[in-house]
Amino acid sequence: MAEVTIRDLKKMYGGLQVIHGLDLDISDGEFVVLVGPSGCGKSTLLRMIAGLEEISSGKISIGDRLVNNLPPSERDIAMVFQNYALYPHKTVGANMGFPLKMRGMDKAEIDSRVARAAEVLGLTPYLARYPRALSGGQRQRVAMGRAIVRDPQVFLFDEPLSNLDAKLRVQMRTEIRELHQRLKTTTVYVTHDQIEAMTMADKIVVMQGGRVEQVGAPLELYDRPANIFVASFIGSPS
Ligand code: ADP
Ligand code: MG
Repeated sequence: MAEVTIRDLKKMYGGLQVIHGLDLDISDGEFVVLVGPSGCGKSTLLRMIAGLEEISSGKISIGDRLVNNLPPSERDIAMVFQNYALYPHKTVGANMGFPLKMRGMDKAEIDSRVARAAEVLGLTPYLARYPRALSGGQRQRVAMGRAIVRDPQVFLFDEPLSNLDAKLRVQMRTEIRELHQRLKTTTVYVTHDQIEAMTMADKIVVMQGGRVEQVGAPLELYDRPANIFVASFIGSPS
């Protein structure tokens, strides 16, 4: 059974149509990368899956639930943004536990979830520190920790590495993949970076102008691009 199912999804901003009847199936445990040029609708699609943006028409299901009319808090997803903001006056541990505290979870359960996530992310020595004392990569890990503690059905990432320098970006790609190997949480990862897509994805979805141009494993797209756009987009370095 597909974990995320999207059928004939459309999005209008006023008179401007930005998603054109999109269909997509994402399997349980899959790491799917949405890639395409700036403005093609990647963030809009992700935000509609998250429930942060209303859909104009179509269907989005997560697991066996139609989520069209569910608020973000009831979709069992966790999203990591490009501009992840940590609370400067809260420790790393408190930052990670905050979403659980907001839900009224008891302290012992929060502490145990935070400890587990910190261990997975290599953040255990930093739990009592404040964000200002962390490097960019460590802050990014805290932002991921805040998603992991919720133990969601689906992770959504929107260009999470775009604020990091090139070297750290390469390292974090590997870390995020290793994390996925460990947790096996269904993941939808957005990037405009072809190399990131090619190295991280189980399955790549190439978008252009609010449409899906091709879906396939990285090598499949590389060897058998469906059209000139995919060939030039996947073939050209970022
Ligand atoms: P991407 O993430 O692939 O760069 P977006 O999903 O952000 O693309 O944007 C897709 C299109 O929708 C763009 O043309 C963008 O200008 C437009 N758009 C995005 N958000 C809004 C909004 N809130 N109001 C109007 N137009 C928007
Ligand atoms: Mg975007």
